Amino acid sequence: MKIIMLGAPGAGKGTQAKQIAEKYHIPHISTGDIFRANIKNGTELGKEAKKYMDQGMLVPDELTTNLLVDRIKDADCENGYVLDGFPRTIPQAECLDRALEGLGEKIDFAVNVEVPDENIIRRMSGRRACLSCGATYHIQYNPPKAENVCDACGSQLVLRDDDKAETVKKRLDVYHAQTQPLIDYYTEKGVLAQVDGTQEIDKVFSDIVAILGE
Ligand code: ADP
Ligand code: AMP
Repeated sequence: MKIIMLGAPGAGKGTQAKQIAEKYHIPHISTGDIFRANIKNGTELGKEAKKYMDQGMLVPDELTTNLLVDRIKDADCENGYVLDGFPRTIPQAECLDRALEGLGEKIDFAVNVEVPDENIIRRMSGRRACLSCGATYHIQYNPPKAENVCDACGSQLVLRDDDKAETVKKRLDVYHAQTQPLIDYYTEKGVLAQVDGTQEIDKVFSDIVAILGE
């Protein structure tokens, strides 16, 4: 099963994608996590991506698309994957479609997690991220068992540089201008599914399972 998670930054794509990956035994591929891992390891890709990420801007399409198209050819993607944070622009979506066509494959579901902008700033300021394993928590809505420590791998949790209020506003503008048009794009392809992302995490997940099937 090949799934795309759509939604504003902070809508809960990563939170849901992790659970989807576990339930359906497919890899969770987050371009944001890949960039953050590269930043942490000081790679050239990380240095280049950081320039854009810190300003709330998108990393250029060519860089992001090449990375993603290579990743989905890996052996663990044989039975599908859940993409989180990709595509974020129409050119990225077109590029993914071309790559899939070449492999004789297609996207099965694009799940749009809908959350109004008013809720997003509150979510982002309370988000705590694990830069080692990509797990995400919220100090109020989804706290880790021990304060500031990742349940999954024991690493220290951080407030992401790009989760500060000024950067979040910019990211929302970028989302509306460049990413939201993908909702129409996948509606036209007949694969769009909408879920109400303002509900509790478990309810959002059960709505998604109802769409994807048991
Ligand atoms: P995205 O991957 O879309 O940027 P995340 O999954 O990281 O979003 O979620 C953003 C923040 O909101 C995190 O702190 C997460 O724990 C929290 N969160 C996710 N889903 C919900 C929800 N349904 N209700 C309340 N908080 C949520
Ligand atoms: P995320 O973890 O999905 O919130 O992504 C964090 C940041 O990484 C974004 O604000 C972008 O700067 C960058 N990024 C992640 N995915 C993409 C993408 N598909 N295209 C461009 N930039 C991306």
